[in-house]
Amino acid sequence: MDKIKIDKLTVFGKHGVYPEENVLGQKFEVSLVLYTDTRKAGLTDNLECSINYGDVCHYVKQFFEENTFQLIERVAEKLAEELLLRYDLLQKVDVKIEKPWAPILLPVENVGVEISRGWHTAYIALGSNMGNKKAYLDEAVEKLKNYPHCKVEKVADYIQTEPYGGVEQDVFLNSALELKTLLYPEELLKLLNQIEAEAGRERTIHWGPRTLDLDILFYDDWLIDTPPLTVPHIDLQNRDFVLIPMVQLAPYLRHPVLHRTMRQLLDALEG
Ligand code: ATP
Ligand code: CA
Ligand code: CA
Repeated sequence: MDKIKIDKLTVFGKHGVYPEENVLGQKFEVSLVLYTDTRKAGLTDNLECSINYGDVCHYVKQFFEENTFQLIERVAEKLAEELLLRYDLLQKVDVKIEKPWAPILLPVENVGVEISRGWHTAYIALGSNMGNKKAYLDEAVEKLKNYPHCKVEKVADYIQTEPYGGVEQDVFLNSALELKTLLYPEELLKLLNQIEAEAGRERTIHWGPRTLDLDILFYDDWLIDTPPLTVPHIDLQNRDFVLIPMVQLAPYLRHPVLHRTMRQLLDALEG
């Protein structure tokens, strides 16, 4: 992806773990790599099509003046987040914060942190088979739309499906949505669990009736296998109620392990 670079912008700030750092302040050097598509700006010569690096620099200066943190890890994290939320065209950012005057009483030229943060694409499955199912799904979509670190890009049509997994229960309403998010997978799972809990979800029988079920199907092309989380969702290729909405959202999306597109997985299942 194209990059716009800002190198060693000098700003003054009061971040640090020592009390005197929070009072006296010191010099910081901020370097940024802004990842964005500059093609349109390159063709049209129009600033509206790009990210104004002058504006970014002034924003960074203001950010340093208005906030005080102990750790430069926190400074970098918060600055990356604010930039990603502020500039629509910014897809990813590398933030380097250096502290040439770090008060450690040793002859060091520079200390600093460097992080990379950006928008990730996740696909979420939605399901309900109790009470007002449509209202539960609508509310989940609405909550994700209103959550600042998430942007709901597309929502598939709601479809009515038969229960899965052998437990005798009411029919389901299912869907899926495409999400841009700044949250990491486990943070996203926590948010989804919280939205489920707010819908009165109780975990009693596995694959039993539920007001709301939200599963992470994909998170970019990441492979995750930890106790709280398996991504891609381990059983999605066997579920038409997941693949039908996914085909509507992203027919050409390729499963990073099975190497088949959503369309091919659904065709194989219906085969
Ligand atoms: P299934 O996962 O087969 O659809 P379920 O959705 O009914 O079953 P839950 O009771 O909702 O199962 O979740 C059980 C646990 O699954 C959760 O506590 C969560 O930690 C874990 N889990 C593992 N991978 C995922 C994922 N990709 N998305 C959501 N939860 C996951
Ligand atoms: Ca599920
Ligand atoms: Ca679940």
